[in-house]
Parts: sequence; structure tokens; C-alpha cells
Amino acid sequence: MSDHENGHGDVRPRTAVLTRGFDPKLSFGSARPAVFRSSTYVFESPEAAEHAFAITTGKIKPANGERADLIYARFSHPNAEILEDQIVPLEAGATQAAVFNSGMAAIMTACFTFARPNSSIVYTTPLYGGTTGLIHSFLEPFGVRGIPVHGGDAEALEEAIRKAGDCCIVLLETPANPTLMMTDIERVANAAAAHPAKPVVMVDNTFLGPVFQHPLLLGADIVLYSATKYLNGFSDMLAGVALAGSSDMIQKIRSRRNMFGNILPPDECWMLDSRLPTVSLRMNRQSKNAQRLAEALVGHSKLSAIYYPTLFTDPEQKRIFEKQCAYPGGIFSVEFQGGKPAAFDFLRKLRIARNAVSLGGVETLVCHPKTTIHSGMTLAELAECGVTDGLVRVSVGIEDWRDLLADFEQALAG
Ligand SMILES: *Cc1c(COP(=O)(O)O)cnc(C)c1O
Repeated sequence: MSDHENGHGDVRPRTAVLTRGFDPKLSFGSARPAVFRSSTYVFESPEAAEHAFAITTGKIKPANGERADLIYARFSHPNAEILEDQIVPLEAGATQAAVFNSGMAAIMTACFTFARPNSSIVYTTPLYGGTTGLIHSFLEPFGVRGIPVHGGDAEALEEAIRKAGDCCIVLLETPANPTLMMTDIERVANAAAAHPAKPVVMVDNTFLGPVFQHPLLLGADIVLYSATKYLNGFSDMLAGVALAGSSDMIQKIRSRRNMFGNILPPDECWMLDSRLPTVSLRMNRQSKNAQRLAEALVGHSKLSAIYYPTLFTDPEQKRIFEKQCAYPGGIFSVEFQGGKPAAFDFLRKLRIARNAVSLGGVETLVCHPKTTIHSGMTLAELAECGVTDGLVRVSVGIEDWRDLLADFEQALAG
């Protein structure tokens, strides 16, 4: 897909992110937005207050292009409005966004907006640990049955959706963490569209979006992000985003956010918004670095497997990658022949790459999923998603890849 087929008018996403959504006139001509830390906003008249409340509470629909006056910062504030307007052009097919104070807040709020009692949610495994916890600890006790399906098995997903009683949500995470297993978004969206309950299809696009994978163009309804990762890119804040082509869906999500109070605060909005113009530059460099490293490590005597999209061997996984992803992205995992001791030895010896969870930052981070991010899974779940004792996940940064390769080689030696 070429950049300009994204439905965002006459300019491409990398231009639109710099030209849309912020009017310097509203910030005394300042080239960067001011930060508005007010908790509350002054109305021009009591009638204006009444009108703003009527729009924000959904009693009346705003006129075309009208935006409700600001009321109170838990509902919205200028920096959230600016960020939401600037992030939309980055997501192909999106018309509206809602920003949250973490990725989990975005996922939780989207789920609570569309879940209803005595319904079911079909989801791919493995999912991010926090999301799995949300389904088991909150949604299931409230009467939403969770139906897990292996993300790479398209037929099983279609069948699970077809059989799911009153299916309210289909939640996908692709590529999956940490083995990069991919799910065919379009096939799942078609199966969901054929279900009488018309489940909302949500995709956690944290690993490859917004630059390399465009779920809304493949039939998904909502795209979710941990903006803590690539969107921000500097491992110095938490944030989350929900985007959709339907403004009605985002309005519903925002009304839940009004209740929960989990909007992204002004300072964080300002920071995240300064990171958006470089998302594409950073992700392109991270993907190129990761591809060079992953491919250079193929055949290393200490490694029994390398998980990376350009190294997929399963024809179905290769097909999905070629169909729905523009580039392979900045994350790969390696499997040590020597199990946990060999994996830990490698982590101890690295000098440039750092041993930390999280991903998507400009610095290279490496972790041992089984004892950290996936330690909450049962042994059966770990085995099913290929999280073994010898697995190490790498989130590649923007360093010179030759230094990273030398660092990996010295840590693998001896
Ligand atoms: C980190 C992450 C999350 C959670 O995001 P937070 O910003 O930490 O709340 C959700 N999904 C994926 C895929 C992630 O990597």
C-alpha cells in the first residue's frame, strides 16, 4: 500500500503529522503548543456551559465540525485535543482518537465500552500479560466469557467466532509477544462481520503500528496502542491510544474515559505530541537494525531458533507477513540451546543492550520473557506460545547496528 492511499486528504502521514491538528494562533503564535494545566475552564455564559454539558454528556449531537467547549480536564483539555488531532493522520483509516494515561487504560476502557453481561470475547493467545489479567480478573467475573484461540490458527479463530454466543468483542494482538506469531486481521474481521452480534474487532497494534501495519484498512474497528512503546520511543513516559474510523465508537470510549478519569494529562500529551513526527524515522531505523542483527545471527551455534518475520518458515505466517505488514519491525527473539543458564549468561554479558522489560525505545532492551513479562502464565500456556527457558526477547534501538552486533557476538562467545 502506498502512503497516500490512507484517506487523509492531500498530504501523506509524515507531512500531516506536522501540519495538522495544531494552530499556533491558539498558543500566542508559539511554534510548539503551550501546556494548559488547568483543571477547569471558564464559560462565556451560563448558556454556553449548558450547551457544553449537553454535548459532552451526549444529550445533543454536536453540529458538523463543532467541538464542545472545554469543561473540566477529566473530560478533555487542549493538549489532549491537540494530540488526538495530530495522531489521527498517522493511523491509516482513522478519523478520531482518544488518549489515555497508559496502554492498559486504553485497552481496559475500550473493553468496558463494548462488553456486556452474558456475552463473550474471543481473543488471540498469547496476549500481553496485563490484557490477559484484565480478561480473567475483571471481564469474566462480570459475565463476559473469554474464549482464547491460538493467534496463528485462522480456521480455529473463524470457528470460535462463529460459535461464540453473543460475541461482543474480538481482540487480536499481532504480531504476538514474544514469538511474533501473526494473525490474519482481514480474515478475522470478515468472520466477525458475519456474526449476528456484530462484535467490535480490536487490534493491539503496539508492535508494528502505526507505521508498518494498518488494521483499520483490513476491516478492524478499533486500533489500540501502548504509546509507552514506539509512539513515544524514549522510555520516559506511559501513555495509551484508541483510534477508529467511526467517530461514534470513539465518542462512546470517551464517555467511559470521562467516568474512569484515565485521560492522558497535559504534560504527557505535550511530550507525546513532540515525539510523533519522528515515529516513522525511528521505527524504520529500528526495523533495519533488527533485520540486520536477526539475519546475522542465523546459524549461530548457541542458538536453536530466531523468531523474526523475514525468517519465518511456516508458509501461512510468511503469507500473512507479506500481506499485512510493510516491514518486519524492531523486535526479534532468540532461543538458546543451553536453556535458562545460557540465556542468563548472555544477558549478564551484554554491554550496550540493557536488561529491561518494555520495548520500542531508541535504546536496545533485552529480557528473558519466561521469568519476567510472562511469569504469570501457566506452564501449559507458556508451552503453547513457545515461551521456553532459553528464549530471550530483543527490542532493537537506533544505535549503529554494527556495535550492537559486536555486543551480541561478544556476549554469545565463550
Ligand atoms: C506494553 C504493552 C501494553 C500495556 O501498555 P502500558 O503502556 O504498559 O500500560 C499493552 N500491549 C502491548 C502489546 C504492550 O507491549
